Amino acid sequence: MAALLKARKAVGLCVAGCRSISALAELPEIHQILRQTCRDYADRELTPIAARLDKEHTYPSKQIGELGAMGLMAVEVPEEWGGAGMDYLAYSLAMEEISRGCASTGVVVSVNNSLYLGPILKFGSDAQKEQWITPFTTGEKVGCFGLSEPGNGSDAGAASTMAVQDGDEWVLNGTKAWITNSWEASAAVVFATTDKKLKHKGISAFLVPMPHPGVSLGKKEDKLGIRASSTANIIMEDCRIPLGNMLGPRGAGFKIAMQTLDSGRIGIASQAVGIAQASLDCAADYALKRTAFGAAIGKLQAIQFKLADMALAVESARLLTWKASLLKDSHKPYSKEAAMAKLAASEAATFCAHQAIQVLGGMGYVSDMPAERHYRDARITEIYEGTSEIQRLVIAGQILKEYQR
Ligand SMILES: Cc1cc2nc3c(=O)[nH]c(=O)nc-3n(C[C@H](O)[C@H](O)[C@H](O)COP(=O)(O)OP(=O)(O)OC[C@H]3O[C@@H](n4cnc5c(N)ncnc54)[C@H](O)[C@@H]3O)c2cc1C
Repeated sequence: MAALLKARKAVGLCVAGCRSISALAELPEIHQILRQTCRDYADRELTPIAARLDKEHTYPSKQIGELGAMGLMAVEVPEEWGGAGMDYLAYSLAMEEISRGCASTGVVVSVNNSLYLGPILKFGSDAQKEQWITPFTTGEKVGCFGLSEPGNGSDAGAASTMAVQDGDEWVLNGTKAWITNSWEASAAVVFATTDKKLKHKGISAFLVPMPHPGVSLGKKEDKLGIRASSTANIIMEDCRIPLGNMLGPRGAGFKIAMQTLDSGRIGIASQAVGIAQASLDCAADYALKRTAFGAAIGKLQAIQFKLADMALAVESARLLTWKASLLKDSHKPYSKEAAMAKLAASEAATFCAHQAIQVLGGMGYVSDMPAERHYRDARITEIYEGTSEIQRLVIAGQILKEYQR
C-alpha cells in the first residue's frame, strides 16, 4: 500500500479526485493503479488456491495478512488511524478483484472493512477509534458484525439480545446468528436492546472484545459457498463490558446498523461483480478452447449469446456499483443506489455462474473447474446484508418518497 499511497501523491489526486461521474467512463489514475495491483495479487495469490481453501474450509490467514499489508483491510480508514485513507470507489474496486480470485477471501475483507470498521469510523470516539480500529487495519486482527439473531434476520428491529447496565458495566445476554469471521474475530460490533419498550429505537450498538468471558461460539456452519470464511453463532451469557464500549448514543443502534448495511451493500455488490466476472472469464476461455462439431464452441451463436448476456450483466452491475460508491464518496444520499447495485450485482452473479456452467457442459458440474464454485459462492450475495426482497423494498420505498415530493 505504501506504493499506492506514493502513487496517489505523485498523481496529485486527493481522495475527492474521483467524485466526478466521469469516473464511470474512465477511472482516475490512482484507481486504475489500485485495480491493477489488486488484479495482479488475486491472479497470483488467490485464484490458484481458491478451490483448495473452499474444499478444506480453510481461513486464508496468510492472504488476509498480505492484504492488510497492502492497506486493503482498512481501505477507507484515514492514515492517522492506520488505514489506506482512500475512498469507497477504491474499496469497491479492491473488493471486486479480490472476490474475482476468491469470494471467501472477499467476504472476510468486506466484513472487516465495511461492517466492523465502518460503523466505528463513523460513530466512534477518538479513544474508541484508537482501541478498536487501528489494531484491525493490518490483517492481524479482524472484526465481525453481530446483528442477525436466530429469531430475526430481515426484521432486524426485532432484536432480542439484551444489554442491561450494572454499575459501570453493560451486561449482554443473547445470541447473534450467522456471524461472518466469528471464529477468527478479535472483536465484534454487537447490537442489543437497552430499552425493550422503545422497540427498534431501544437498540444500541456495543464493542465486544473476543474472546471474552461470557462469549462463546456456536459450531461453524457447513455452507453451500464462501466456505473458507467462518460463519457461526456468537452466544453471550452475562457478558460484561465497560460502559465506554457503547458505540454511538444510547438507542442509536438501529440507525447505525442500517447505515452500516447501506455502505456494506456496496461491498457485497462488488463481491458479486467479482464472482460474475470470474464466471464470464471461465466461460469465455472455455468457449475458445472447447471444440464441438469440428469448431470451437465460441463460434456457435447459442454460446455467443450467452457470453453477450453475461458481459452485459457484469458491466451493468459494475456501473451501478461504481455509481453507488461515487455517491457515497460525494456525501450524497446513496441508499437506493446501493440497494440497486447489490440487487443487480447479486442477480448478475447467479445468472453468470449459471450460464458459465452451461457453457462448460459437464466440466461445469465438477470441481476440476471453478464454475461450480462460482455458482455456489454467488448464491449468498442474494441473501446476506439484506435479501433481494429487502433490496426491492428499500428501492421501492425511496422511489415512492421521490414521487411524493
Ligand atoms: C453465510 C452467511 C453469512 C452471514 N453473515 C452475517 C453477519 O456477519 N452478520 C449478521 O448480522 N448477519 C449475517 N448473516 C445473516 C443474513 O444477513 C440473514 O440471513 C439475512 O438478512 C436474511 O435473514 P434470515 O436468514 O433471518 O431470513 P428471513 O428474514 O427469515 O427471511 C426469509 C425469507 O423471507 C423474506 N422476507 C422477510 N421479510 C420480508 C419482507 N418484509 N418482504 C418480503 N420478503 C421478506 C426474505 O427475503 C427471505 O426470502 C449471514 C447469513 C449467511 C447465510
